[in-house]
Amino acid sequence: MNTVVVGAGVIGLATAWEALRRGLTVTVLDPAPASKASHVSAGMLPAVNEQLYDQPELLRLCLDSRARYPSFVAALEEFAPAGFRRDGVLDAAFDEEGLRALARQRAFQEAHGIRTERLSPEDCAKLQPAFAPTVGGLFSPDEGAVDPRALTSALLTAVEALGGTVLHRAVARVDDHAVVLDDTSRVPFDRLVLAAGCWTHRIAGLPAGAVPEIRPVKGEILRLHSDPPLLDVTARALVRGSSLYLVPRLDGELVVGATYQERGYDETVTADATRSLLTRAAEVIPGVGALRFAEVSAGLRPGSPDDLPLIGPTAVPDVYLAAGHFRMGVQLAPVTAAAVVAHLTDTAPPEAAAPFTPRRLA
Ligand SMILES: Cc1cc2nc3c(=O)[nH]c(=O)nc-3n(C[C@H](O)[C@H](O)[C@H](O)COP(=O)(O)OP(=O)(O)OC[C@H]3O[C@@H](n4cnc5c(N)ncnc54)[C@H](O)[C@@H]3O)c2cc1C
Repeated sequence: MNTVVVGAGVIGLATAWEALRRGLTVTVLDPAPASKASHVSAGMLPAVNEQLYDQPELLRLCLDSRARYPSFVAALEEFAPAGFRRDGVLDAAFDEEGLRALARQRAFQEAHGIRTERLSPEDCAKLQPAFAPTVGGLFSPDEGAVDPRALTSALLTAVEALGGTVLHRAVARVDDHAVVLDDTSRVPFDRLVLAAGCWTHRIAGLPAGAVPEIRPVKGEILRLHSDPPLLDVTARALVRGSSLYLVPRLDGELVVGATYQERGYDETVTADATRSLLTRAAEVIPGVGALRFAEVSAGLRPGSPDDLPLIGPTAVPDVYLAAGHFRMGVQLAPVTAAAVVAHLTDTAPPEAAAPFTPRRLA
């Protein structure tokens, strides 16, 4: 069974690796592997966010992926480190509105069996001494983060180690059981997985509507650096109704994210986003201005028409979708890969993935 995967972001690479582990022959096509949304992403892996409160099916999908993460990473780390940490996520409140949001989050997590510990301002100060004074917090000890750059680099290593072929080429169109590349050469397939993020629907040759439009949702994000690391645990801060996340890596990197804008395929980085993120970060960490400024980057989150992932067969025989993961692609990579490969191998996909069939939008 010759499988072609179009797109080598976290979704395409996780799918390719899983397919190779199940004995399929895999070719991955991407002009610039792991360079788009997955490269920019913070890699937060919180159990819940506010998007899940009224989305029980998405919550089930997230919890399924969360359960798969440790074994997914353990298998991958036989090839290279993936930068996974599950040492807790702190949600800190800086005002009454933040406290109310945390009370709701705590009730929701407890209702779903996700461990939480309520923290006093003193507890928050002990856990995160670099923070400005909080009015309270919530600690979720079983959550964490992954470094998406390490993760995708490990996936690329693993794909090649298991005999997968990665061609640095763009796919222009699908033509029967072959993809046509930008130089008009053809790569035949038995089964095709389209995982090209917000570019997926731009691949030509499929009937109208087979691949829903996936819109780009821009996010800008900062990377700062200190030695030793300024923060010990991954954190989200609620300040005046807006949320900021802070993801420390063991090497001293501190990721500060992120903005959210719908402005087409615009990947420019702006002074405004940098200023806004730094201003908000300084309210949470007064000493942030002294850190080394390492990078500002912009990425395009792939948003499907209903903002939910598209996982599984399309109406076109032998063509599958793994796209539209919006703000959660890193989080949802293990369950997406498992579901798509179950379809490719004609076995039962995880039940949690069933509602995300692309056919719901056909
Ligand atoms: C600022 C920011 C922060 C984020 N933080 C988080 C987070 O904390 N946690 C989380 O879970 N998610 C987060 N996300 C979302 C996450 O990054 C995405 O959901 C995820 O990366 C999508 O992965 P993907 O593989 O579908 O797309 P991408 O990573 O965009 O990969 C698509 C790939 O397709 C390739 N491609 C495009 N056209 C073609 C073609 N014609 N032929 C071949 N290849 C092609 C591209 O080169 C690219 O490599 C964040 C996103 C942003 C922008």
